[in-house]
Amino acid sequence: MSINVEAFKLISEELSKANTQLVAVSKTKPVSSIQELYNLGQRDFGENYVQELVDKYELLPKDIRWHFIGHLQTNKVKYIAPFVHLVHGVDSYKLLKEINKQAEKNNRIIHCLLQIYIAQEETKFGLDETELKELFKEHEENKLNHICIDGFMGMASFSDNETLLKSEFAVLKQLYNKFSQTNNFSTLSMGMSSDYKIAITEGSNMVRIGSLLFGSRS
Ligand SMILES: *Cc1c(COP(=O)(O)O)cnc(C)c1O
Repeated sequence: MSINVEAFKLISEELSKANTQLVAVSKTKPVSSIQELYNLGQRDFGENYVQELVDKYELLPKDIRWHFIGHLQTNKVKYIAPFVHLVHGVDSYKLLKEINKQAEKNNRIIHCLLQIYIAQEETKFGLDETELKELFKEHEENKLNHICIDGFMGMASFSDNETLLKSEFAVLKQLYNKFSQTNNFSTLSMGMSSDYKIAITEGSNMVRIGSLLFGSRS
């Protein structure tokens, strides 16, 4: 199994022009493929499963920035807390509290993105605007000093309807702008292999790309 070097170069160039960061999504892909991309200069990698992430962390160079982009269960936070760079999918205050607790134990601050529900699909995770407001209210009242909310993450519908995707990303960007006024945000994580170009035009500054770089997953 080999990576698509040509695609990596083209995408990297495109993203650097747009000031957008690339998270290479390596879930289910072998350590050797990650090492190949690392050798080309890529340092940010995204994983969806805790055990897989821990195994890969142990085998690969320690200057890799590991992004957890899956749905994180509270009882598994402790395994990634010592090293995770950014947790993209935080969708409850309870999870945020647990991340804070484990970060404190490890004497570090863990950066998080809140996952916002933007798709017209029941299957996707995430907070709506009401839940988002409640979460920030709880966070203000009960300050968590070992986490930092850097911004939002969202997944658009699984669709090739560009108008729909555009409008879903636009909703997320609007919310991001709104909450940026009272929070020190830096990161809006939206866009994957199939829709990252649209996400960038709608204001994304971090995309999560897997299959275009590593080939499709079985
Ligand atoms: C798997 C995954 C990606 C990457 O998907 P591709 O279509 O392979 O680019 C991005 N974000 C999340 C949350 C994922 O689970």
